[in-house]
Parts: sequence; C-alpha cells; structure tokens
Amino acid sequence: MSIEEIYQRFKNSNKVCTDTRKIEKYDLFFALKGDNFNGNEYAEKAIADGANYAIIDEEAFNTSDQCILVNDVLETLQLLANHHRKTFDIPVIGLTGSNGKTTNKELLKAALSTKYKVHATLGNLNNHIGVPLTLLAMPADTEMAIIEMGANHQKEIAELCKIAEPSHGLITNIGMAHLEGFGGIEGVRKGKGELLDYLKESNGYVFVNEHDATLCSMVKERAMMQVVYHGKSNHVLALKAVSPNISWFCEASKKDYAATVSGKYNFDNIQAAYAISMFFNVDADLACEALATYAPDNNRSQMTEKGSNTIFLDAYNANPSSMAASLENFKALETEKGKVVFLGDMFELGEFSEAEHENLGKQVSQGNYETVVLYGENMKYALKHLPKAYYFTDKFSVHNWVNDKKFENKAILIKGSRGVKLETILNFI
Ligand code: ATP
Ligand code: MG
Repeated sequence: MSIEEIYQRFKNSNKVCTDTRKIEKYDLFFALKGDNFNGNEYAEKAIADGANYAIIDEEAFNTSDQCILVNDVLETLQLLANHHRKTFDIPVIGLTGSNGKTTNKELLKAALSTKYKVHATLGNLNNHIGVPLTLLAMPADTEMAIIEMGANHQKEIAELCKIAEPSHGLITNIGMAHLEGFGGIEGVRKGKGELLDYLKESNGYVFVNEHDATLCSMVKERAMMQVVYHGKSNHVLALKAVSPNISWFCEASKKDYAATVSGKYNFDNIQAAYAISMFFNVDADLACEALATYAPDNNRSQMTEKGSNTIFLDAYNANPSSMAASLENFKALETEKGKVVFLGDMFELGEFSEAEHENLGKQVSQGNYETVVLYGENMKYALKHLPKAYYFTDKFSVHNWVNDKKFENKAILIKGSRGVKLETILNFI
C-alpha cells in the first residue's frame, strides 16, 4: 500500500497509537519493534480493542484485512509523518542542542501561544519515534510547530530534519553531553550542526545567541544567509538578577519581569524564546509575561522549600556542561543558609568519564560548600579533589545517611543523571 493510501486511512482515524494499552476506538496502530518486544504480536489485540488498522511488517501476523503489511513499520511511521508535515505551510521550528531543549521548547511555546495556535513536542518525545509521533499529532489548524530533536550520535539530527523539514532552527548550545556516542566535543558540534546543514540547504532561518562563540562560528563556517542573532544587538532583554529568581527589564515593553526559574542558563533560554517570538511579531509584553510565568517540571531546575531547607532540585539529568551551569548557579545563590550539594554520576561519557568526573570534583572543591555528598561508581574520580566529601555507591546507605543527618536551615542542590534518580533523597530530607 502506498504512503498516500495509508495517509488517507490516517486522516480517517482517531490518532496514531504504538501501545495497545493506550488504544482507543478508530486508532491507527503502528506495530513497532523494540529490544524486548515485537509490536506485530499485538496487532490482533489492537484491532480487537478498536483500532481501525494495524500497520505491521511480519507476514505471520497478517491475519485480517485491517492489517496493513509494509516493509518496515518504523520507516512507514517516519514517511507518514513527513507526508503529514508537508501538508502544512507554516513555520516549523526545529530545536536541538546539548542542554535546555525541553526548557526552550516550553518557554517558546508559552510565548508564541499568546498569538498563534502552537503545536509542540509533548514532554521529551524527541527521537526517531518521538519526532514522527509529534508531527502526526499536529492538528489541522496549527499555525506554528516546535519540534524538539534529541541525538546521541552522528546523522541523527539529519534524519530528524528529513522527517520534520524545519523551516527555522535553534541550537540551544554545544556542550559536553553524550560524549560517548558523539565521540567528544567536536563530534557534538558536528552532530548538532546537521540542523544548520539542513537549514542552509533549504534556505531556512536560524536563531543564534550572539554570546555563544561556538554557535556563532558554526553559522559563519557555513556562510548561512538567514541568520537572526539575539542577545547583544537584537531583541536584548536586560538581565537584572539571576538569583534567587531571574528578573529582567524589557526595552520594548518598558517593564520589569520576574521569572519563577533561576540561574543564568535559564536566562539564556528565556532570551532565546523572547527573540524568536519577537521575530514572529508577538507582543513583547505578552511574551515576557508568558516567559515569566513558565514553571519547569520533572525535577528540572525546581526550587522548593522543605521545612527550613531550600532545595534546588535539578535531578532530571546531568552532563559536564549542565553540572557546571547548575553549580555556577548554586554558588552564586545568595543565602544565609549553609550550602549542601548532592551530586550523582554523569552517564554516557565513555572514555571521557574519568577526566570529567575529576574535573567536576575540582569545580566543586572551589565552591566553598559546607557539605558535599557524592553518589555513584564514577564519582570516585571526583573524590580526588574532595577528601572531605561523603561518598556512597548504594541508595539505601545514602537514604539512611540523609535521614540521620536531619538537615535544618540548609540550601541543598541535588543533581545527577536520569539513571541515578537522585530525587529519591528528597523523601528523606
Ligand atoms: P534531554 O536531552 O533529556 O532532552 P534537554 O536538552 O531537553 O534534555 P532540559 O530538559 O530542558 O534539557 O533541561 C535539563 C537540564 O539541563 C536542566 O535541569 C538544567 O540543569 C540544564 N540546562 C537547561 N538549560 C540549560 C542551558 N541553557 N545551559 C546549560 N544547562 C542547561
Ligand atoms: Mg528534552
């Protein structure tokens, strides 16, 4: 069956679904395969539960005329998503970078939504499956789309661009994330640069933070034509404070704003979202109001009070760049309270792991923290520079230790990779 024919069936269905536990009547089921499952095995159940059709790629499961047999289900999902994308003549903003993609996406969505009907990636669905699903969920009346694109190896962003065909792009930053898959920082630069390659080819627009020398040189190297700079010469927000919360003055609206988030890096995120919304002629005051009210979720840069303690929960993920940004932010926090840092392992660093954990230890040692707690196998390298740190390799012990410690009147930073789930210690503070 051709993509066009499958597209007609998609148009007549309720939504795309890849999980039979979430199937609704008239869904179009895609039998994707994973390491531990074969969606083909669920096709019959999907149809029994109400799916209009099941897209499958194994003949053995072709048991009814509601099954559509294709060569490759994933490829069909991606082609269909691209087909749907092509039916929209609207700005589609592709968003990648090492850190802050979801934050930027949410900020941008908040600001642009004051004027347009915006469709954006739900949560963190930013990979070869998430991007197509995001596109296929785009309603017909969408006026603008924001597509988060994640990657941990070369050619991934190029593939996502082929599917989403962004007309505009933003790289948040080039940092030390997924060093293992990208093969070092130069590899990250190359991999994220695939978005610029695509935009150059298609004559799309790129938004660039003028304070970021790496991003500026990436744009210059490619002699890109449609570059919209922000931060120094255009769309400048005047930063007033980063701690405890970010505040700024906006020249265009002649007003001050105070955000719910803190940290210099979040100001970069706000500045980028502001500039892009100005490019799309959003009202400056409405944009700033929306940016100020944005509150992160999922343990990203969340400031909370627990008893007499102030907790900066940033345990959503971690890599050398976001660790450095978070620590810089925490160090700058003005408070009478004693500062405590809980840091968990950074993953996906491969051969760079030892040196990067050691570097982290060095950075922490310069922070004058009252108490440092390290958790995880790789943190033994950070210990070199932190002889007085408390060190744990199992959760049970760290939970017990926190429980016994009975922290009072402390400012506490919690950060580590997703796999470490350091937020669990919050229950014991
Ligand atoms: P993922 O790769 O999981 O999709 P992401 O790029 O979407 O991550 P976010 O979820 O927005 O990133 O933020 C994750 C963490 O990155 C934040 O909690 C914060 O510590 C850090 N971070 C956010 N913005 C920046 C930034 N501009 N520079 C450096 N670090 C940042
Ligand atoms: Mg994300």
